[in-house]
Amino acid sequence: MERGGTSHGEVALRRLARVSASLLRWFQVAAREMPWRETRDPYRIWISEIMLQQTRVDTVTPYYERFLARFPDVRSLARARPDSVMKAWEGMGYYARARNLHRAARIMVERYGGKVPGTVEELSALPGIGRSTAGAIAALAFDVDAPVLDANARRVVSRLFGVRGDPRAASVQETLWDRSTRLVAKGKGRETALAMMDLGSIVCLPGGPRCGECPVSGFCVAFRTGTQEEIPPRGARRVVPHHDVVAALFRRPDGAFLLLRRPTEGLLGGLWAFPSDQRTGEESLEGALRRAVREKLGVRAAIQRKVGAVPHAYTHFRITLHGYLCSAAKGRLPAGEGTGWLQPGVRGRYAIPRADRKLLDLILEEETS
Ligand code: SF4
Repeated sequence: MERGGTSHGEVALRRLARVSASLLRWFQVAAREMPWRETRDPYRIWISEIMLQQTRVDTVTPYYERFLARFPDVRSLARARPDSVMKAWEGMGYYARARNLHRAARIMVERYGGKVPGTVEELSALPGIGRSTAGAIAALAFDVDAPVLDANARRVVSRLFGVRGDPRAASVQETLWDRSTRLVAKGKGRETALAMMDLGSIVCLPGGPRCGECPVSGFCVAFRTGTQEEIPPRGARRVVPHHDVVAALFRRPDGAFLLLRRPTEGLLGGLWAFPSDQRTGEESLEGALRRAVREKLGVRAAIQRKVGAVPHAYTHFRITLHGYLCSAAKGRLPAGEGTGWLQPGVRGRYAIPRADRKLLDLILEEETS
């Protein structure tokens, strides 16, 4: 269809070019400063993008610096022992990210001569790198005109183009990727990716977007129709299950606590934790503890006293971790591979889940008060 000699397609393209231009102009003055934005080193950019996947910028910053001091390049990360990588990640949560970083570094050494590969296809074939993260690394480190669609960009694109529907649905995803791709001005992949992320985190906020300060409000469907709060739709509130978990604290005469290494796969995989298990069915807490100790350590537990209980939230559930000081009433505690002794207050090699760390802090507070 033609209008005044100009096709709708051309009008749409010009409009997109104006959206991109407004976005990039805004970014030139509003860009946030972050340590990983000062580098074009693909390794550093990769590490920062993985850390930022589920963690806030201010939390990531000190971890980023420490991690890079410990593992300055792909080869040093690939060579590291799994325990050292987990230790460097300790406290940041979502430990599968650390395991995947380590695996991906080894693949980069085997396949890419110890370098981070530069295309979206190669990047997204590596463990822990999804399509959006691959796009971000390619755009930020290699100047590829790749679109991104992290949570911030997804919100901006949904509102800007008035894309309704559940953003997790395949058809909606497809539309969002298409719109995000069109927003990337030729040769401006890096700036566009950063601008989208920044706009989503400082202007187009999940609740109460600051449309008055927004550089693309003149083009925004949600702003024009007053539907900012409806797009993207908030997921129905999930009921977050709660579990009671019991932990056995066996202590040596020198004060050290027994730890077990958790299986590599699964929740908190590869971390070192107090022997523990979830209370099931009608079990009492102490009954669950005795069972857990019998099953995991092969000894009978004599429970001395309860040290305390700490709450902790994971992505899909919450726990209360109940800690009990115990001794072995019958049998010998296991030793060797997969067991360790943690000396409280001494910086050791063990990466410990945050809930176990909270329990340990309770004991230390008790002892020093
Ligand atoms: Fe988001 Fe408002 Fe800007 Fe639209 S106008 S992109 S809703 S901040």
